[in-house]
Amino acid sequence: MGNTDERINPGHSKVRRVLRALGPLLMLAGVVCLAIAIIDFAMVFGDMSHQPTRFWLFFIGLPLLALGSALSMFGFMGAVFRFAAQEQAPVAADTFNYLAGETQEGVRDVVSAIREGMTDQGKVCQACGADNDASARFCDGCGKPFQRTCAGCQTNNDADAAFCDSCGSALA
Ligand SMILES: [Zn+2]
Ligand SMILES: [Zn+2]
Repeated sequence: MGNTDERINPGHSKVRRVLRALGPLLMLAGVVCLAIAIIDFAMVFGDMSHQPTRFWLFFIGLPLLALGSALSMFGFMGAVFRFAAQEQAPVAADTFNYLAGETQEGVRDVVSAIREGMTDQGKVCQACGADNDASARFCDGCGKPFQRTCAGCQTNNDADAAFCDSCGSALA
């Protein structure tokens, strides 16, 4: 049954109309069959001489009810799904645009932060993360000595070095 359900195109309005009409009809027929069968069976308890001759309707009514509810569920669910999809599509587009906008802003923020960091003449302490002036020899935050980078050859020298280890230039 699940296979045949999958093969039915939910976009086919004629099929859906038939399902919507047939589903409740089958359900109703199933309920009637079940009611007759149960009443027929229950009459045995009131009248022991009564023979439940219509109890076989129970075995027709049950599948009918199941089939009917499955058909009407599928018939109506198609509409619900389509409605939900129509409702969600613009929301999804908005969400995408919103996220794209946020991402663009985020990228812009990161780029500007990198540019600021590259043009910033100060230096950040590797030990405690405190911002210090470029000329600082010791960290404002933790007192750790900074290395002195040679302006000529970019060699890192000891914080108290007066001349570059590598090229001999005087360190500022
Ligand atoms: Zn520090
Ligand atoms: Zn040097």
